[in-house]
Amino acid sequence: MASSGVRNGGPRMSAKLDRQGAGATPKAAAGKQRLSSAAGAYRRTNSGPLPAAGGRASSGGVSSRVRVAVRLRPRNAEELAADADFGDCVELQPELKRLKLRKNNWESETYEFDEVLTEFSSQKRVYEVVAKPVVESVMEGYNGTVMAYGQTGTGKTFTLGRLGEEDTAARGIMVRAMEDILADIAPETDSVSVSYLQLYMEMIQDLLDPVNDNIAIVEDPRTGDVSLPGATVVEVRDQKSFVDLLRVGEAHRVAANTKLNTESSRSHAILMVNVRRSVKGRSEMDVSISGENGHSLSMMGSLRPPIIRKSKLVVVDLAGSERIDKSGSEGHTLEEAKSINLSLSALGKCINALAENSPHVPVRDSKLTRLLKDSFGGTARTSLVVTIGPSPRHRGETTSTIMFGQRAMKVENMVKLKEEFDYKSLCRRLDIELDKLIAENERQRKYFDDEVERMRAEAQCRIAEAERECKITLENEKMKYHQEYLDSIKVLEEKWKTHQKSPKRQIKEAESTSSDIREAHNLLQDEKMLRQSAEDEASDLMNQITHWKKLEATATAEVVKLRKMLDTEASQKEKLEEEIGVLRSQLLQMSMEADETRRSLDKGDGPGKIFPGLDSLASQTGSSQPREHSNGPKQPIAKLSEQVKVVANLAAEEANQEKIVEAGGLTSLLVLLRSSEDETIRRVAAGAIANLAMNETNQDLIMAQGGVTLLSMTASDAEDPQTLRMVAGAIANLCGNDKLQTRLRGEGGIKALLGMVRCGHPDVLAQVARGIANFAKCESRAATQGNKVGKSLLIDDGALPWIVKNANNEAAPIRRHIELALCHLAQHEVNSKDIISEGALWELVRISRDCSREDIRMLAYRTLTSSPTLQAEMRRLGIKM
Ligand code: ADP
Ligand code: MG
Repeated sequence: MASSGVRNGGPRMSAKLDRQGAGATPKAAAGKQRLSSAAGAYRRTNSGPLPAAGGRASSGGVSSRVRVAVRLRPRNAEELAADADFGDCVELQPELKRLKLRKNNWESETYEFDEVLTEFSSQKRVYEVVAKPVVESVMEGYNGTVMAYGQTGTGKTFTLGRLGEEDTAARGIMVRAMEDILADIAPETDSVSVSYLQLYMEMIQDLLDPVNDNIAIVEDPRTGDVSLPGATVVEVRDQKSFVDLLRVGEAHRVAANTKLNTESSRSHAILMVNVRRSVKGRSEMDVSISGENGHSLSMMGSLRPPIIRKSKLVVVDLAGSERIDKSGSEGHTLEEAKSINLSLSALGKCINALAENSPHVPVRDSKLTRLLKDSFGGTARTSLVVTIGPSPRHRGETTSTIMFGQRAMKVENMVKLKEEFDYKSLCRRLDIELDKLIAENERQRKYFDDEVERMRAEAQCRIAEAERECKITLENEKMKYHQEYLDSIKVLEEKWKTHQKSPKRQIKEAESTSSDIREAHNLLQDEKMLRQSAEDEASDLMNQITHWKKLEATATAEVVKLRKMLDTEASQKEKLEEEIGVLRSQLLQMSMEADETRRSLDKGDGPGKIFPGLDSLASQTGSSQPREHSNGPKQPIAKLSEQVKVVANLAAEEANQEKIVEAGGLTSLLVLLRSSEDETIRRVAAGAIANLAMNETNQDLIMAQGGVTLLSMTASDAEDPQTLRMVAGAIANLCGNDKLQTRLRGEGGIKALLGMVRCGHPDVLAQVARGIANFAKCESRAATQGNKVGKSLLIDDGALPWIVKNANNEAAPIRRHIELALCHLAQHEVNSKDIISEGALWELVRISRDCSREDIRMLAYRTLTSSPTLQAEMRRLGIKM
């Protein structure tokens, strides 16, 4: 009978397969019936890579049953001694994936599992059977869970948490899983980070930072995903650092449990591994097309953002399951018993509800079930290992553990790919693409301009040459004919004279005259022909001039054509800028909306209008029809400047700053500040950055994004005093951050401040003075705490002469800041020599006597009286306090 009723396990199978000495109940028989029809389905559902597995696919994902393995611990020394005469209470049939539980000498029950791991199973095999498929699907972008359940001392921690430092064969699931994950990721595009926590008495404690012992669970109202934003998250790059983290966590767990007077068997340990991978080859961004002029232009083929997969592996080492039943009887405090009961028994109830397809699953009853919401009945691929001991003395515990495992086998999850669009990186790529296009555009414009200039010069040169040649030829011809004319007149005159002088010869001459007349006639004919040929040549030259003029006209037409091409390119560039604007504002709006929803959900009221300005910005950028009909390239600039103004107004409120920064607003503002040629945009962008720079987190981000260099460049080439005032204000805010001093100075922040005094506007000077005072104050503080040695960086950067010159500035805000800065500088002996040599001592004395602000006056006085170097110099100069 034992073998006759046994079949492969299935998702809806009945737990008990046969019963020695007792007939199968009708219920069990019905179970067998269900098993035979479902067995095949189960095999299909759980083999092969997930999406292709042929499991039930629906809009929500692919069906995947929770897999359950049972692992038997070998007898320990005590059991070897005490139970020597008794047989084990279980018998394993690993090849049939079955376990027999002896009730007594004549009765036993058989259960089937997905895997049966004997006391001889190696850690490697346990990993491969229980965890490896889960780890693989995590790497493919699905969430995964590996959990151990069982009585204390049966090997849960042995299975999951052994570090195996002394013997690599002993390594547990956590270590092996991380090894596989690290081997599979691409370090340049992917990342892995971990959190390690323990749940005790319904309190979540950070094992990487044990002071943090009441971490809240946060649920995303949109996706329902749970997260622990308060937990320490450590990025893991290599196996050693991960093992170190586990060791630190384990040490903290021991320490915390000692302090709370508990043992680790009463708490649940949870390791969370977040894997972030970018999917390659899915973006169709860049399409290269050939331009009219044969140049290759890089164009946006589509604006499809790259895709990232964010999956999570959760490994759970549960508290000992025996606490569930015995909590009252072993002297636990009531609270503790309740809490251990609460989480574990809530887990049991959820699994029962899921196994029975009950409409209500009491997930919210405990923190454990809330944390594992995705693992049971959710979208994760889940594998459970139930651990048991061989001793007949713990038959009760062993039975209940087995029953837990059997019920868990009936839970179906719908695994789902955790994929999303990476808008931020799209935005970055578009920025780069835009930069490239701008550079290409500029290069081409310059090429065309040069070409036009060259052709014009050549045409002019040729025309001038033709004109000159023509003139010379005409001149020569004219002179030649004139000369011939004069010559013939002369000849005639001479003839006339001789004719007058000798009348006798008249008759003779008359004869010759008639020949002369003939000759003259011939000459005249020649002259006419010559003139004709000269005229022909002149007209020929005129034709040449017309030809050259035509050539010039062709060149001009070509110039017009090139201009048109340039205009087309400019309009493409504007379109791209607009698209980026739209994307940015969508991103901003999405994050604002998410926030709004979260806030309103927190508050419990309906969605309200938190950022009305942003709505209008979104609708404006979203509509394709511009509102104003100002034509030409001004439109995008006007729109951009409006958007920047909206962002600047939002940035003035601290509550909005985080969202603006999250949405990439800060980066965009910095880029605009540097690259925009529109004065209004630069001024407004600088103002917004100055506002953001008031907050310490943003200051770090501004530094990290090279903001100081960008601000310094703007400081050196902006002219508008209001833009400079904003830039100076931003740097002045950064000057007030203790941690940024060295870097700020290294990236030219102080020099930029000092450079801006060229503008002379009192508002700018006041910001410069404020920055110097802030910087001096931080430096002084660092020197007092022993964190800084050596001369002030302000002095190194040459600020002292300006400080001395303006220490008595008539504008009170400037004067106050500089007086303060001087006092801070003078408080440290290293600076004394420079203070004396630059004449600042006199200013300090003046401040200590005349300053109308009592606190500054006193500060100067104390500074002067406590510095030995300054005291000595004052004595030398005969100054008395
Ligand atoms: P749990 O975490 O369930 O309370 P442990 O993992 O701490 O149990 O195991 C209790 C003891 O049994 C430990 O000393 C451990 O080394 C030992 N042990 C557990 N499982 C095995 C096993 N499969 N092979 C050898 N020793 C084991
Ligand atoms: Mg343990």
